[in-house]
Amino acid sequence: MKKLYGVIGDPIKHSMSPEMHNQLFQLYRIDAAYVPLEVKETNLADAIRGFRAIGAAGFNVTIPHKTEIIKFLDRIDPLAEAIGAVNTVVNENGKLAGYNTDGLGFVKGVGTQVSDLKKKRALIIGAGGAARAIYFSMAEAGITQIDICNRTSGRAEILVKECPISVETNIVDFSEAEKELQRYDLVIQTTSIGMSPNIDHKPFSARNVSETAFVSDIIYNPLETSFLREAKEKGASVQNGINMFVCQGALAFEKWTGIFPDTEIMKETVQKRLGGPTC
Ligand code: NAP
Repeated sequence: MKKLYGVIGDPIKHSMSPEMHNQLFQLYRIDAAYVPLEVKETNLADAIRGFRAIGAAGFNVTIPHKTEIIKFLDRIDPLAEAIGAVNTVVNENGKLAGYNTDGLGFVKGVGTQVSDLKKKRALIIGAGGAARAIYFSMAEAGITQIDICNRTSGRAEILVKECPISVETNIVDFSEAEKELQRYDLVIQTTSIGMSPNIDHKPFSARNVSETAFVSDIIYNPLETSFLREAKEKGASVQNGINMFVCQGALAFEKWTGIFPDTEIMKETVQKRLGGPTC
């Protein structure tokens, strides 16, 4: 019987996940379908009851349900529990188990481009949901020096305090981060600053970045933010948000099927949809 997968969120019509996963089901000859499902916040409980009733095999969860969903699931993976957000649900013999593949997807994507990740000194710009998933997953991956700068420093302090793995972290403000940017091997821009339509905005200038640094901006709309462009002009290696998006999807696919899929094919699909080269 055909297995059913999907993604729930609101809004959902621009999600690239259905295209990405349906292509993989075809490629690996798996009899399954993945559908976008718009679920309003007030309907979340009913939607989960519906998934249970029809025996859906799994689903992704996106804004605004990533935290709220937790109370409706039977089991939460410890990393997802610590992060406080679930983006992937697996139906494990009738029990719904929640995972978070966002941060792990980021680490996986960067790991393919940067060697000796554990020895790198990192700076995360931002302390929102994505930064939290990335910080906790980097800590789990054994990266030991991760500084954070965020407009609201209290949010960064909470994030560090709540991480179950202890990491050497300085909380710095934007002006210090800008001035001392050359200290970092890895710079990860996770704020929404620079996202379309505000494509000329950036958290601060990247002019002091080291030319040996690896700079990632997890935004993929636009494909090259103003921050990323400046870092590239300074000679740094750069990566936009497509790799993270693709790798979180690949890890979800692996949880559902046991197959870690070809991420290059996934990137091509996403690139085609977004209309530009991945970097
Ligand atoms: P979030 O929880 O709302 O956090 C937003 C972050 O941006 C916070 O650190 C916030 O700082 C900061 N920020 C927003 N506007 C700002 C401004 N004007 N000045 C200074 N700081 C500002 O959002 P999120 O879920 O973490 O998502 C953040 C970005 O990551 C979005 O662009 C999203 O599309 C992208 N993302 C990409 C992927 C991927 O797969 N590539 C996955 C998830 C998210 P404060 O704490 O001070 O408010």
